[in-house]
Amino acid sequence: MTEKSEFDDSPMFRTALAQLDRVAAKLNLEADVHERLRLPRRALVVSIPVRMDDGNTQVFLGYRVHHSTVLGPTKGGLRYDKDVSLGEVTALAMLMSWKCALMGLPYGGAKGGVRVNPRQLSKRELEHLTRRYTAEIILLIGPDLDIPAPDLGTDEQTMAWMMDTYSMTQGKSVPGVVTGKPIIVGGSAGRREATGRGIVYALYQALRHLGLELKGRKVVVQGFGNVGSVAARLLWREGAVITGVSDVKGGIWNANGLDVRQLEAYIAESGGVSGFPGTVAVSNTDLLEQPCDVLIPAAVGGQIRGDNAERVKATVVVEGANGPTTPEGDSVLRDRGVTVIPDILANAGGVIVSYFEWVQGLQYYFWRESEITSRLQEVMTRAFNRVWALGQKEGTDLRTAALMEGISRVAEGYRVRGLYP
Ligand code: NAD
Repeated sequence: MTEKSEFDDSPMFRTALAQLDRVAAKLNLEADVHERLRLPRRALVVSIPVRMDDGNTQVFLGYRVHHSTVLGPTKGGLRYDKDVSLGEVTALAMLMSWKCALMGLPYGGAKGGVRVNPRQLSKRELEHLTRRYTAEIILLIGPDLDIPAPDLGTDEQTMAWMMDTYSMTQGKSVPGVVTGKPIIVGGSAGRREATGRGIVYALYQALRHLGLELKGRKVVVQGFGNVGSVAARLLWREGAVITGVSDVKGGIWNANGLDVRQLEAYIAESGGVSGFPGTVAVSNTDLLEQPCDVLIPAAVGGQIRGDNAERVKATVVVEGANGPTTPEGDSVLRDRGVTVIPDILANAGGVIVSYFEWVQGLQYYFWRESEITSRLQEVMTRAFNRVWALGQKEGTDLRTAALMEGISRVAEGYRVRGLYP
């Protein structure tokens, strides 16, 4: 077994590896296949010089990692965050491999990242950063090679710049090189809402199995970005009570619930959730410990840990973010009987509709939003129920069951394809 690697300095990578090793033992995975799954197929580190608005040049670090290509071209988001590292991106690429396999998508896992605080850059600087990053990783991406999508700190506009940069090098438009792009240039209806919507479908199934109703449930959402805001809005529309939300600057709380539509209008003017009338301020840490039925961490990794999981009041945790719970936090929640819907299941709506976008683009034939949402619901519901049934059969939590299914499918790909040369 590889003892130490470049990726080990990242807590998220160590967590991903610990999860893989635990499940590999449970699956009795052959040592050679297990060993191949522990490291990415390839990882590229690039420096990205950007001429800033003040005339100075600043150099940023960027990464693109392909974890596994055994089931098809790779798929995975692009993250702009000040804490991005090679280890974190590699861990996220590994999670993408399990997630795509669990959902039955013909993809391997990838991820990209740039170490930057995107809120400190102007729009022009962000465009230059994105275009230069795309040029630096161009050998690794393409519609049948590796297809990036938005993630933390990136959005539709980022994808439009990536698609345009790639297309310029090909002398033609290549919409299939990214997903999550604006509809006008080949994006899919329902992609922006897909991850949040998938969370609602997964939660709905979990509550059904637990004999609980969604209506009237108190819900807390950490991170009010693409994933968190859509989940909050849809749950609120379904009659859930959204008692607390947050963004990077902090959280807000009202025990009687927030009007999510008014909150969104407030954010559009003020730029953040803080100061929304009728709420009290809470920190991001305290928000996780507020009384509620459902907690949705939808921001960054490592939020629910051994030192605070005891104080989480929710009976269901839905992991909108990737890796929001550490193994220590996970084991505390498990011992306390909290149902955790793991990231690779809960937040898969994004990659499912990305797959729909890619397929529509390749065929130049686009579906109605109602078709997208009903197919998304079908894929999410089937996956959730398979994972639930496996968990019951094996006597395991949902994370272990989801990883067992995802990892065993990727392993089977390695088995049947064999080892080149
Ligand atoms: P986003 O940038 O749109 O929103 C992130 C939100 O979290 C914002 O409200 C931001 O202010 C807040 N935030 C950022 N750093 C924070 C911190 N340190 N503490 C607390 N809050 C912080 O990003 P997103 O696309 O909504 O992604 C959120 C999470 O969901 C990420 O972990 C991402 O990997 C995961 N995810 C996203 C998608 C997708 O389709 N966008 C799919 C699957 C998983």
